[in-house]
Amino acid sequence: MEDGKSHKKSAIRVNAGVEKPEAVNPLLQQKPDKFRKSHINPREYFKGIKTGDRALLSRAITLIESTLPEDRETAGELIRLCLPLSGKALRLGITGVPGVGKSTFIESFGLYLIEKGHRVAVLTIDPSSMRSRGSILGDKTRMEKLGINEQAFIRPSASAGTLGGVARKTREAMILCEAAGYDIVFVETVGVGQSETAVAQMVDFFLLLMLAGGGDELQGIKRGIIEMADLIIINKADGENKNKANLAKREYENALHLFPPIPNGWQPSVMTASALYGENLTLVWQQIEKFLRLTKGNGSFDENRKSQDYNLFEETIHQTIHDHFFRHPEIKKQLVKYKTQILNRQLSPYEASQKLLDFYFGLFS
Ligand code: GDP
Repeated sequence: MEDGKSHKKSAIRVNAGVEKPEAVNPLLQQKPDKFRKSHINPREYFKGIKTGDRALLSRAITLIESTLPEDRETAGELIRLCLPLSGKALRLGITGVPGVGKSTFIESFGLYLIEKGHRVAVLTIDPSSMRSRGSILGDKTRMEKLGINEQAFIRPSASAGTLGGVARKTREAMILCEAAGYDIVFVETVGVGQSETAVAQMVDFFLLLMLAGGGDELQGIKRGIIEMADLIIINKADGENKNKANLAKREYENALHLFPPIPNGWQPSVMTASALYGENLTLVWQQIEKFLRLTKGNGSFDENRKSQDYNLFEETIHQTIHDHFFRHPEIKKQLVKYKTQILNRQLSPYEASQKLLDFYFGLFS
């Protein structure tokens, strides 16, 4: 009691007070493995992906997009596990200028395919997201109805690095999606020229969406992209636009006849459609089925996949050697030296590159 009284008088009285809250979420302290992505092992990811856990699939794709060395290891193992389950999906590339209706089309066609019993994944390669933080595709709400459908999975473009890097990540994401049982994978890109070749290298069938314009239709999109298309769809063929769309269809048909035939025996065609009103989606699907019958029948479907695999092999080696060279600390130092000499015209670019390459190969001999 004596003590209590003296405490009451004291200016530095200690109150009973409340318990200090935990600085760290106690759940995290109890089960760190469950809450830290690096602690999910590849087998757990694989199990979740196979059972159709979309949240885990999403996290697994984030993992494969990571550049952290410890994540790369887990990602590599996960891809190895998923590979045997991949390859069975139909891979559809889709391109077209911004505003042509790609996301509207993927949404209505995707829902149409889901109704037919398919499961649909949508991956995106957005070259604009590699240069700046902004992106042509990413900053609007896209494919809302498809996004909430249980049978669909939508993943926006990876944004790190170069087109080659993003394309590689997209291929890996495709393997994961296929292992998750999505049997139709869309790879969408913006029809502005850089990324179509990369997409063509990873899909079975390439759709090009176009608009009926005034006269100069072929100017809007590069000839090379038209040549890559297995099917051209003149979108927005509805309302007052219908006649113009039919006219454009005939013009493109004429233009296609001027291109050399494709070795797989497929004759690309043109059709009109309305993504907004879901018109002609059946015709589009019939055309794709016809393509599959032809190319699976004559073996070119498989040949195409094989040559894509071989290209991927060469490209991976190319990229790995490139990265090894430019990330090597000794090379980095020498690059600075040679850059100065080249800019000062003390050394020609040929001499400089030869010297540096000799130095590089000398490191291993
Ligand atoms: P993206 O940039 O290629 O993905 O194009 P969007 O799908 O976002 O479509 C751009 C605009 O065109 C949107 O306002 C859509 O509603 C509209 N749109 C898309 N498809 C059609 C169509 O078939 N008919 C009409 N009338 N409008 C469409």
